[in-house]
Amino acid sequence: MEFKGYKIEELQAGLFAICDEKTDAMYLIVGEQKALLIDTGTMKPDIMPMLRTLTDKPIELALTHAHIDHMYHAGEFNTVYLHKNDIAAWKKGVLQILMLAGFAMFHVPAKRFQVSGYIPVSEETKIDLGGVQVRVVDAPGHTPGSCVYVCDALQTVFMGDAVGSGGPTAWLWLPGSLHIGAYRDHLKQLQEKLEPFASYRFLGGHSMIDFVPEDMPDFVPLSLKTVKDMYTLCEKMLSGSIEPKTKQKQALMTVWQYAYGTAGMWVTKRKIRE
Ligand SMILES: [Zn+2]
Repeated sequence: MEFKGYKIEELQAGLFAICDEKTDAMYLIVGEQKALLIDTGTMKPDIMPMLRTLTDKPIELALTHAHIDHMYHAGEFNTVYLHKNDIAAWKKGVLQILMLAGFAMFHVPAKRFQVSGYIPVSEETKIDLGGVQVRVVDAPGHTPGSCVYVCDALQTVFMGDAVGSGGPTAWLWLPGSLHIGAYRDHLKQLQEKLEPFASYRFLGGHSMIDFVPEDMPDFVPLSLKTVKDMYTLCEKMLSGSIEPKTKQKQALMTVWQYAYGTAGMWVTKRKIRE
């Protein structure tokens, strides 16, 4: 299926994977009473007309984290869920400053976000769509309040950007991203919490659904192994037993790429050292 700027795939009954032209991935879960969009992408036009071609049920929005490419259309939803730690980070200003840079980077008009009106989620939260429930697992690192959503009915884990979207794609260099030591500790917990869902489908925040980017010949889909490999990678980085593969300039900073097994990241040296 296509809709101006979006590629849409019905992965199974009640679950759509949607990818915009900027390779932002989002997912629509349709329950008996209502639907839930996970993340929004960054296309310029409103997103609701596209979603309305998929369901006529009320649609709520669950954000994996508060970055522009995941929440640009949040203003179109009456109900928006965001992890309490990203709400706190937003209030402190880190994520808001990043948002301002994001408008320029993504070439989209500036918007205001009423984050104080969002519903804070934590691991106690269950979002009930009628016959389909979605729950929250903390996955801090990429942002302080990054989280993943688990849906047992669909046997799917929605990973957002918590460990990247396959291959060496996680961004840990951003302002607000945690230090690698803290990230490693959280990954240990994440790995344990996701262990019962090892056989589920893991979906990332950027589209790798039906194509492998040419610059990533070693791409492998997300799985629990990605979380485990990311943990090992952090250990190796902290002990100095792994060398970076390459580097590039991002926003006047030098960011280094590290990779191990099925996982990898871009990071500044400061985040490893400090
Ligand atoms: Zn992000």
